[in-house]
Amino acid sequence: MSRQAPLRWLASQSATRTVPSTLRRTIFTVPPRASQAASLAACPEPEQGPVASGHDEFWRQIPMWRDVSVDQFTSYAWSKKNIVEHHKRSRSENLQGILRVVLPDSVPCDSSPNKLQRREELIEDVFQGIAASTMSLRLMPYIFSRINWQDPRHDPIFRQFFPVKSLMVPDHPKLKLDSLHENEDSPVDGVVHRYPDKALFLPVSVCPTYCTFCTRSYAVGAEVSTFTKQQMKPILKRWEHAFAYIESQPGLHDVVVSGGDAYYLAPDQLAYIGERLIKMKNIRKFRFASKGLAVCPNRVLDPEDRWADALIWVHRKALGAGKRMALHTHFNSPNEVSWITQAACSKLVEAGVTIRNQTVLLRGVNDSVETMSALIRTLADSLRVAPYYVYQCDMVKNTEHLRTPLQTMLDLETQIRGSIAGFDMPQFIVDLPEGGGKRLAPTFLSYDRQTGVSRYMAPAVKGKEKEDKVYEYYDPCIMA
Ligand code: SF4
Repeated sequence: MSRQAPLRWLASQSATRTVPSTLRRTIFTVPPRASQAASLAACPEPEQGPVASGHDEFWRQIPMWRDVSVDQFTSYAWSKKNIVEHHKRSRSENLQGILRVVLPDSVPCDSSPNKLQRREELIEDVFQGIAASTMSLRLMPYIFSRINWQDPRHDPIFRQFFPVKSLMVPDHPKLKLDSLHENEDSPVDGVVHRYPDKALFLPVSVCPTYCTFCTRSYAVGAEVSTFTKQQMKPILKRWEHAFAYIESQPGLHDVVVSGGDAYYLAPDQLAYIGERLIKMKNIRKFRFASKGLAVCPNRVLDPEDRWADALIWVHRKALGAGKRMALHTHFNSPNEVSWITQAACSKLVEAGVTIRNQTVLLRGVNDSVETMSALIRTLADSLRVAPYYVYQCDMVKNTEHLRTPLQTMLDLETQIRGSIAGFDMPQFIVDLPEGGGKRLAPTFLSYDRQTGVSRYMAPAVKGKEKEDKVYEYYDPCIMA
């Protein structure tokens, strides 16, 4: 990215607000990039041959990327050009063509690995799934090439990002688009304020890759056929309304910058948000939430892209001001992790950035003790990322086939605790429907395994008649 480029976004906003001089300083003091070779050298497997060629170039198994070099694959510009996507207005032939190239003639079925589904049947199944889905389809090349295309229906990455009609089942009647009632807890556009000392800021509603189970599907992603989304555009005027609200709340000390995904913010936008928050007297800490490290870690290593530099710059600036910044990421499967992820995490961790992970518990993705344990160990030991939360899948529309009963989470917690160091043990959480906030899964008031209804209270969440409210989580109607 050129030194001048960051001003483009600000210039486009000038009709709504004068660019603060502090921001000009922000942009021009972001430090120069380390070389790509230096970034890759941080990767811990340098034994065989040159660093860049001593690793598995897994993307070359994808026929159309057979000749793509490490340097090309590391380029974020190349990644953006080669995104695999389909939304309401895209041409179906594009995705069909890609699937025809990557899929074998037939693949094992879900029900029985000995039963096969023909390639054209699976493609039709995917397109019917897209038509019924609440999320559009988008995958960065990195995560697309981590899928086992010989057996996609059993692949934990394919299951998260490809809507497949034959997998979908009717929703539990309590499932909603905005199950956490974020709209009810939003005092101004782009802010959710539920806890007294913490708020969520939503600067953007797009992501580098779309999860079919997204909690914020009411707003996130490109248009779909099933309903109209609330869009959250990265417009300075909208952001400033949100900042004015955040600054006006003396009891508010902590901000989560999410979306959408902070990875879809340009480096100058990230720096701008960071600096605005650091300058607010009431804000003590903030986190950027991003799935970027899980779906496109190569961006962090790209010498032409400055997102990671901007993040590190904000981190140092926050420390200098006596405040804290962290990156919250979203890994759900150990299969998402490669040597590129290790190199990217090393770069950020060694620059002092705290990284914490939030996993969503998903049926057929990470709902076994073996997989969840492997994920936690990989995060903690290979990536040096804190395995912070494992969430029960929210009661969001069109997720019934991916949700697990609460009992699955309780069993995982029971079996994993004691096998992993306590400080690496994530908290197993239910984010209560209707805006009750996060509660530890085993702290229910009651859990009826027959009806699948668990009940919780959230004493710290007040206002809007929430003081004595009892919140209910409903297990999926289908069981394994
Ligand atoms: S990355 Fe986060 S916000 Fe984006 S689609 Fe996935 S869950 Fe939703």
